[in-house]
Amino acid sequence: MSKTVAFETSTSGHESDWRNRAECRSRDPELWWPVGSSKQALDQAEEAKAICQQCPVLAPCDRWADEQGMDVGVWGGLTEDERRSRRRSRNRAKAAEARRLAELAKVRAEQEALAAEMAAGLPVQLPPWRTGPIPRQGS
Ligand code: SF4
Repeated sequence: MSKTVAFETSTSGHESDWRNRAECRSRDPELWWPVGSSKQALDQAEEAKAICQQCPVLAPCDRWADEQGMDVGVWGGLTEDERRSRRRSRNRAKAAEARRLAELAKVRAEQEALAAEMAAGLPVQLPPWRTGPIPRQGS
């Protein structure tokens, strides 16, 4: 992957292209590519991140780096470790939400089956959720 994408002039010709307004275009590109975890590299990353915070295209840059899965360098004010950490948090939250929705669907299916049995006049055995609070959508 090229190390200079954010620092090149866009060839799209669109003024709206965020790369044309990148603060880092007028700086030493090496600042955005700290290598390792030495104090010098960490200081370098902090300096790049501080410049990113003043950049008018921080948001689109961050979005682009996220979408592209950029796994090296500082982009949108975040280091690779910070982007990875954010991705992991997001994935954990998605997995938790998927589990919650699956549980909710299961309870709803049990509710519907119970309602159908009651409507048919069949003797019903109360499922576990009937003895506790019924989960509600959005809770
Ligand atoms: S947010 Fe940072 S990396 Fe992105 S364009 Fe601006 S200065 Fe460059």
